[in-house]
Amino acid sequence: MRLTPLLLTLLGLAAVALAASPAVAREKPAPRPARPVVPTEAPVAPAFTPVHKSEAEWRRLLGPQRFNVLREEGTEIAFTGALWNEHRAGTYRCAGCGLTLFASDTKFDSGTGWPSFWRPAYKGVVAENRDSTFGMIRVEVECARCGGHLGHVFDDGPAPTRLRYCINSASLTFVPVR
Ligand SMILES: [Zn+2]
Repeated sequence: MRLTPLLLTLLGLAAVALAASPAVAREKPAPRPARPVVPTEAPVAPAFTPVHKSEAEWRRLLGPQRFNVLREEGTEIAFTGALWNEHRAGTYRCAGCGLTLFASDTKFDSGTGWPSFWRPAYKGVVAENRDSTFGMIRVEVECARCGGHLGHVFDDGPAPTRLRYCINSASLTFVPVR
């Protein structure tokens, strides 16, 4: 039997199609365990009411070091605080009033010796004030509920916000995830 050019062409195309579709589908690589992506924007904070106490009450509640940092805007010496080298998952709360201020998923190693975060845990829990002490213009940050001094925020942090919240360990308590 003589094959017509048309039939030859069709046979050729069929052969190409068979070669291009292997009987066994190529195995897909196993998916990597998904790393949860931390949203750039902080979620809205649960409602909270301001906390006011007298200086004497704060002094009694906080003890000398926390009082100096939180109520007198003191700064702990770098690499001496309890939390700059804390790497566990958990939340960081105001040592004055307990409000959740930061979370471990936004903490990064800044090399400064102070706990550093690229954003607060919630919108509105950290208030900002211009600070011109020590001949520098800086932005001081404090707890929005009790007014306790936390540290400063700088614009030399990592992605995605490029912010660096440089916080005193003494201003915080750490609650690890169980
Ligand atoms: Zn507070």
